[in-house]
Amino acid sequence: MNAPNPLFVKEGKKIEEVKYFPFDPPLFLKRGAGGVKLGMKTKRRKSRKIKVGGLFIGGNSPVTVQSMTKTDTRDITATVKQIRSLEKAGCEIIRVAVLNLEAAACLGKIKKKISIPLVADIHFDYRLALEAIRQGVDKVRINPGNIGDIGHVRQVVEAAKDRGVPIRIGVNSGSIEKKLLLKYGATSRAMVESALSEISLFEKEKFSDIIISLKGSDVPMTVEAYQMLSEKCDYPLHLGITSAGPVYQGMIKSSIGIGSLLLRGIGDTIRVSLTSRPEDEVVLGYKILESVGLRKTGPEIISCPTCGRCEVDLIRLTEKVENALKVIKKPIKVAVMGCAVNGPGEAREADIGIASGKGCGLLFKKGKIIRKIPEKDLFSTLMKEIRIITSS
Ligand code: SF4
Repeated sequence: MNAPNPLFVKEGKKIEEVKYFPFDPPLFLKRGAGGVKLGMKTKRRKSRKIKVGGLFIGGNSPVTVQSMTKTDTRDITATVKQIRSLEKAGCEIIRVAVLNLEAAACLGKIKKKISIPLVADIHFDYRLALEAIRQGVDKVRINPGNIGDIGHVRQVVEAAKDRGVPIRIGVNSGSIEKKLLLKYGATSRAMVESALSEISLFEKEKFSDIIISLKGSDVPMTVEAYQMLSEKCDYPLHLGITSAGPVYQGMIKSSIGIGSLLLRGIGDTIRVSLTSRPEDEVVLGYKILESVGLRKTGPEIISCPTCGRCEVDLIRLTEKVENALKVIKKPIKVAVMGCAVNGPGEAREADIGIASGKGCGLLFKKGKIIRKIPEKDLFSTLMKEIRIITSS
């Protein structure tokens, strides 16, 4: 029997109990008889496939990593420079803020100079969405809660339909419509009802190129909102924890919020929001996807926290390995462990690894010891072995 759900959240307080419990054992992990196996893949929620520029969101498409520029969109040079840097970091979809018609008029020029899909982020003024669509953007994000007039939203939908441009309905916990706030308070339910009412408006206009997001800065409330909506529609979901904070806090909130949803099979594209360089958002986005087994983009380091058994400077050695691995693009698990007693066993899933020791250490593969190595040669031997594995 499931425990009653303590997480129907109203500003952090328990206000209602419902039947399902969002943190039940994951529903979407394929299990064998012995439970979840090492490296097992998450079974994703079935969602529609929506075309965004040259790629797809939803269906069987890989979960994509997005970011948003932090430049003034009217400064085309600075905006294009930042987008190109993000492309290099692996960003797959880029969103820009469209504050006024002047910014909207720059979108066509920006799009011509970049090679990833361009998304216009619109608040308040439907005319900006109309201009963005006219400029040829690949997707529009609107927050229907602050666009207001239904007639205006309809005009945006019509224009998007004519040009085959998908729309993300971006519900934000900070800007839920008043009537829903009065009815439900600032809750996950209010966010979901807001999204559902917009979906039904779009569907009445026979428009289904929709992607939904339900972002809040409160992790349990946001996770619950996505969980609830995931059961009520099959539109692709764009995941994110909004205003997650500076790097350290933002990484934790985003990893827990986005990661817990992905582990349940929920989510088709992600944006990590950090008060930091946008490139950091992209790097963390991939780290989250790698950690839940959804994307493999490069090496993963398995290193121990060290303890009293460690007799070398493992922090420095791990940093050296991390830096050297930046040029390796193939997915490989590399272990850097602090002692020969427990290292090989604790890092059994690593493709290759070293276990340090005073004077000499061990080289091991998949937990099996290959040979002893003098301490001074640990790093160079490890890198030589990695090059052999990744070049084959
Ligand atoms: S691998 Fe060895 S040094 Fe590292 S935490 Fe485990 S026991 Fe301690």
